[in-house]
Amino acid sequence: MRHHAETDEVDAVVIGTGAGGAPILARLAQAGLSVVALEAGPNWEPTDHTPDEIDAASIYWTSERLSGGTDPEAFGGNNSGIGVGGSTLHWGAFCPRPDERDLRLASDQGAGVDWPITHAELIPYIEEVERFIQVSGPADYPWDPARRYPLPPVARNAPADLMAAGCDALGIRTTDSPAAIVSRDVQQPHFGVRAGAINSGATHQGDRVASKASMDVTYLPLAVAHGAEIRAGAMVHGLERDATGRITAVVYRKDGVDHRQRTRNVFLCGGGVESARLLLNLDLANSSGQVGRNYMAHPAAQVWGRFDRPTRMWRGWPSSLISEDFVRPKEKDFAGGYLIQSLGVLPVTLATSMARSGIRGERLMDLLEHYDSFAGIGVNGECLPAESNRLTLVDEVDEVGLKRARIDFSFSDNERALDAHSVTTMKAIWEAAGAKDVFVLNRTAHAEGTCRMGDDRDSAVVDPNGRSYDVDNLYICDNSVFPSSLIANPALTIMALALRTADRFLGR
Ligand SMILES: Cc1cc2nc3c(=O)[nH]c(=O)nc-3n(C[C@H](O)[C@H](O)[C@H](O)COP(=O)(O)OP(=O)(O)OC[C@H]3O[C@@H](n4cnc5c(N)ncnc54)[C@H](O)[C@@H]3O)c2cc1C
Repeated sequence: MRHHAETDEVDAVVIGTGAGGAPILARLAQAGLSVVALEAGPNWEPTDHTPDEIDAASIYWTSERLSGGTDPEAFGGNNSGIGVGGSTLHWGAFCPRPDERDLRLASDQGAGVDWPITHAELIPYIEEVERFIQVSGPADYPWDPARRYPLPPVARNAPADLMAAGCDALGIRTTDSPAAIVSRDVQQPHFGVRAGAINSGATHQGDRVASKASMDVTYLPLAVAHGAEIRAGAMVHGLERDATGRITAVVYRKDGVDHRQRTRNVFLCGGGVESARLLLNLDLANSSGQVGRNYMAHPAAQVWGRFDRPTRMWRGWPSSLISEDFVRPKEKDFAGGYLIQSLGVLPVTLATSMARSGIRGERLMDLLEHYDSFAGIGVNGECLPAESNRLTLVDEVDEVGLKRARIDFSFSDNERALDAHSVTTMKAIWEAAGAKDVFVLNRTAHAEGTCRMGDDRDSAVVDPNGRSYDVDNLYICDNSVFPSSLIANPALTIMALALRTADRFLGR
């Protein structure tokens, strides 16, 4: 790997190496720019990962965050990662495309906001990402007949088969989920062989054989091959500026010592919580007063049931069945809709979600006795932006002296109505499939918003190209720039946006 001296003024520093940072790093390096990525977490080899839920805690961002509101967020393993590769080290690799209607929710349904860029503009980038990270999916996608996936689908697990049976009985269409998991051995440029899916249910714990497309086995090797440098264990806590307000250097702490990398440009890709937290700590890029506002989390209820035969849901890719029939449900009293997916989950994760949903004590233990015959269904639903759902700073500081974040989050009537609708749908599917002991887990997923993009500098933090309205050489690209949540799980959209942000910066 190439090394840059801190006194060299590099073309760009990228903060964070997750779904936003990694594709940008690769694109800029491929264009011949000198680039350095600073990543707070350590570097892992795929073989460092084990299918062990307790050990996997090391790939989650667990530094304390405070939660408030009527629907307080559970942070940690639920929604953010740390390490070279970011949250993609432990993402579920469920890889739906954003729906066109979700980008113009305000125009169509009078709720939320429209995206300042079109779906048509995103699609070529999405297709490029799907080709490069090698997404597996069905030959015929019922809701988008023109769509083609590079690889055939991965095998379904038992929860997928059971959900398919329930949906068939109710006339709900399903298909194999788009998976950022290779269904057969492939060669990944500049990485090597990624083994075809080995039927592992431990996707969230990191992938030993690199069948899952995390950034450390896809975009980051590409970046390094083109001269990018990645510094792991480098927690950014300062941005130096000149008299004109332009950033001149990035300050980070590594092994207890502060360093300073000179740079011409900065791409902030720390994720939906950390990007806003850093900017608020530095009182930067916030003339709109929007940094930290409009925090969004997808309503993500799960419904579980017990079946008469063992499901062994620890085996197989957890989310191998999808339905998009409820992207715009017919009878509803809310804006937007939701995606449905089948679920298999490892025991500690399931028990934790159960306890958080109020299933405790004897009932928890009784239900867990039947873990090997459970199957789950989950959703990902629209969350409308709301100014009061907000990240602010508290007086307590973290290990590098940055004030910690407090995130207040409350469902609006829209999320509550959508959540209730989705639970009714999922219960009906399990009833049709013959499930017993059905129980509901109340959840949200993903941390979005907080530095939203928009056409108007008074109501947005970055412009539609990801550039800060206030600081000329600062760009942001991660979960934080989403103006509205979209129904689709976010990582594919973030990677596509990252390539677009890099292209706009390069003048393409
Ligand atoms: C358990 C789990 C399952 C998920 N499953 C799916 C799924 O199936 N499908 C899907 O689409 N999405 C999924 N997601 C969400 C997806 O992983 C994230 O939306 C996506 O990775 C976010 O990209 P990002 O670039 O915003 O942040 P991240 O990928 O989290 O990357 C941010 C990086 O920045 C680093 N960083 C932050 N602050 C600093 C700093 N000050 N200095 C240096 N480095 C810093 C962090 O360590 C991290 O590596 C899942 C997430 C989780 C937690």
